[in-house]
Parts: sequence; structure tokens; C-alpha cells
Amino acid sequence: MLFDARIHPETPACRLSRRRVERLHASMRTILARAIEAGGSSVQDYRDADGDPGDFQFEHKVYDRTGEPCVVCGTPIRMTRVGGRSSHFCPKCQKKPRAR
Ligand SMILES: [Zn+2]
Repeated sequence: MLFDARIHPETPACRLSRRRVERLHASMRTILARAIEAGGSSVQDYRDADGDPGDFQFEHKVYDRTGEPCVVCGTPIRMTRVGGRSSHFCPKCQKKPRAR
């Protein structure tokens, strides 16, 4: 969702402009709908109620793709940790917010 909205994962929510919040909201709706349609993401042990894996992991653009080229610009995908969780991103498409 952050990749789709072109937002760096370390951007504090309070620094997002209204326009970027609206873009992120649109990305959330689009990607959640697509993920549900694909049956979810089976990156480890997720299975649906019938025991079947989902297929959305095949559509991940940055997640778990560290070092692979960005599908938009070809820059290698990077990983960082945010609140103890891994977060994958393209350093060119998702610019880090400037310190202030
Ligand atoms: Zn990129």
C-alpha cells in the first residue's frame, strides 16, 4: 500500500499531507480488494477456511523482494525495520522524508 502510494515506510503519519493521506486511502482500498480477490497472501503458513493457500503473494511488488529490481524503476528493493516489523520499499519511488 505504501509502495502504491509512493510513501516511505519511515514517514511519520503526522507528516503526511492531506493529498498523500487520500492517496494512501485509495491504495488501501484497491490493494485490500485485490488481496481478498486473490484469496490472501500465503507467505508462511496462512491458509483459508478450506485449507487452501492464497495467491496474492505472487503480486507483491516490494514485500520480501530485498535486492530485486523495483517493478517501476529498477532500483534494488531495500528492507528496514519500523516498530520491530520488517518493511520493504523502493528507495527511489518512496523517498525518505526530510528531517526537520
Ligand atoms: Zn522504484
